Amino acid sequence: MSRGNRVNIVTLGCSKNTVDSQKLMRQLLAGGYRVEADSAGFADITIINTCGFIHDAKEESVDTIVRYAEAIRSEGRGKLFVMGCLVERYRNELQDELPEVDGWFGVNRPQEVISRLGLAYRPELNGERILTGPAHYAYLKVSEGCDRTCAFCAIPDIRGRYISAPLDELADEARLLADRGVKELILIAQDLTLYGTDLYGRQMLPELVRRLSDIESLGWIRLHYLYPSDFPMEILEMMQDNPKICRYIDLPIQHISDSVLRIMRREHDSTSTRKLLYDVRRMVPDAAVRTTVIAGHPGETDKEFQELLDFIGEYRFDRLGAFRYSHEENTHAALNYADTIPEKIKEKRVAKIMELQQEISAARNAALAGSVMRVIVDRREGLFLVGRSQHDSPEVDQEILITDAKNIEPGTFIDVKITGSSEFDLYAEFRQ
Ligand code: SF4
Repeated sequence: MSRGNRVNIVTLGCSKNTVDSQKLMRQLLAGGYRVEADSAGFADITIINTCGFIHDAKEESVDTIVRYAEAIRSEGRGKLFVMGCLVERYRNELQDELPEVDGWFGVNRPQEVISRLGLAYRPELNGERILTGPAHYAYLKVSEGCDRTCAFCAIPDIRGRYISAPLDELADEARLLADRGVKELILIAQDLTLYGTDLYGRQMLPELVRRLSDIESLGWIRLHYLYPSDFPMEILEMMQDNPKICRYIDLPIQHISDSVLRIMRREHDSTSTRKLLYDVRRMVPDAAVRTTVIAGHPGETDKEFQELLDFIGEYRFDRLGAFRYSHEENTHAALNYADTIPEKIKEKRVAKIMELQQEISAARNAALAGSVMRVIVDRREGLFLVGRSQHDSPEVDQEILITDAKNIEPGTFIDVKITGSSEFDLYAEFRQ
């Protein structure tokens, strides 16, 4: 294959896919390709990195493949490759339905993609990547797969067993990112809680975070997805003492009703979940607690839903995402239960949760008026700088719109005074 060809990598789904795409881009660049991310223009080779998690994500992935296949057909040239979770789940069906695609690759197959493009995989570039988003924050994927058996979830089937990346490799990767200007490192995994158990025989998240916080130029370390059982309490102690660890706890509870949690095959029940959540508030009172919940799971009648809604009102999470249950093939829930709750009811339940969360969020934000916060500047937007405090993760949480700040670059930490708020955003002025 001739060198210098233009490759466009289109990434769908979660931040784990983003990391995979960025590492692939680095390999292709080293092999002489011109690489772009999510470009709208024509490319000689388009690679779509898909998501296959739930119904809406699958639909988006298929639509994207079809759109690019049509563009390539009308152009009369170009190759289309598809990789990632959707392929892992539905390779045979996709091959039959979309013969115009030139190659299909499952998850964790960068070597195969690279070799198909006429290159040899370069192990010396392990951990290197091309940052496609803002340069001041980056995701660090600490493990692959998941060993939990949540009934609704297709991830273990798609991404396989839990495999931790070695501590040294992660520390090297983080150092490389920091050298390139990353100030905020966001640790991601399906389940951060179990980090290290497969490799070292014990939970090593605290040790990993300690090692990463030794990297001088990193300002913040953020943790995404701590499973509620086996929760590493040491992390909370570290948060109390180490200002680099964002006081941000992302703990997806999924539900609070014992009967639903049992059907979900979660490893926590209502009592242990409540205890953990209140322990978190006691130990790190100023932390933002984020969660996700599922509405309409098999076994959730009006009674269990009300229980969930009541608990959300009682605990008043700082951040919350609510999702409609999606009945996914080959999951334990799909094999053992009927999806009896109509989509309309699921939607109504999600809307009710979000309505309540909006009130909670508005009240929480209003209470911040006059306080001073340290924020990282993400970008400039007209007259405003847009930033986030340690309580907010990029792309999923709220932002702070800052006035009176000139000549401040993205990635800079500044202090701001909160002057106003809405349900999901804050307004602030720059403090000299
Ligand atoms: S912890 Fe449960 S919901 Fe999360 S990825 Fe693993 S199986 Fe899925």
